[in-house]
Amino acid sequence: MGEKPFKSGFVSIIGRTNVGKSTLLNQILKEKISIISDKPQTTRNRIVGIYNTEAAQIIFVDTPGFHKPQFRLNEIMVEIARKSLEEVDGILYVVEPEEKVGAGDQYILSQLQRVSTPVLLAINKIDTIPKNQILPVIEAYRHLYPFREIVPVSALSGENVSTLVDLVITYLPEGPRYYPEDLITDQPERFIMAELIREKVLKLTQEEIPYSIAVTVEKMEYDPERNLYTIQGTIYVEKESQKAIVIGKGGHLLKQIGTLAREEMEAILGSQVYLELWVKVKKNWRKDERFLRTMGYIS
Ligand code: GDP
Ligand code: MG
Repeated sequence: MGEKPFKSGFVSIIGRTNVGKSTLLNQILKEKISIISDKPQTTRNRIVGIYNTEAAQIIFVDTPGFHKPQFRLNEIMVEIARKSLEEVDGILYVVEPEEKVGAGDQYILSQLQRVSTPVLLAINKIDTIPKNQILPVIEAYRHLYPFREIVPVSALSGENVSTLVDLVITYLPEGPRYYPEDLITDQPERFIMAELIREKVLKLTQEEIPYSIAVTVEKMEYDPERNLYTIQGTIYVEKESQKAIVIGKGGHLLKQIGTLAREEMEAILGSQVYLELWVKVKKNWRKDERFLRTMGYIS
């Protein structure tokens, strides 16, 4: 009885470096974020985030190799990028608010001519220009490509971003919720960050610290102005001797753990990360059911 069908699909965010793709994605996902991983799902599009509502799911992907080819060899990359863009349900193309379309964007536009996927244009950073300069930019782009929609936004302030998301959804096909919605609270995101820290500890301590560690992430805050995540994690070990190993001489090992984890987090999150790590002793944590539940190891 008049219930709208569920919409879902894969959307690739493209555009030149620094136009604000990561900022826009972070603004769209905010608390709804669910980061999968930076391991390629396929050789082409990798998932960078999932947006969920009652009525829709957008899986945002990153399409590598979509840049101006310098050498003939790169044409293979370009072909992979083109195929990747054919596979998605929508393309969100982000540009800066300039009437004069530069070489980089002209190249991207020429590639889009070869793709049949619906393309929506987001004219970003409108907070940096006077309102009366927006229309000429829209006009300039309107003549270059048959965009399904042209939406001026500010990824930084969030202006018009929800309108853009709603429009993206209208172009998605009817489909299932590909990924469970409960990946959406920031808990799984923290869990992934915690797992990442844990992985680095195990990697750097080798056999000395087998499985007797647990990691929690108690703080994960995003500052869109600086495109910076502040993440606080605690590594739990079972004995004082293990604490000494994890920290290392003069804190050397913990610093190394932090650096490796931070670099990977930055790659996954597409933003800078300020990571703070603590090491605490918690005897027999593996036997503490409530602790395990809090950690998400059991449910
Ligand atoms: P990407 O390379 O396309 O992922 O671009 P980023 O998201 O990393 O953004 C590049 C720079 O532009 C960063 O310094 C952002 O803070 C800034 N930026 C992004 N969106 C906006 C916006 O809407 N307004 C303003 N003023 N700056 C923005
Ligand atoms: Mg980026």
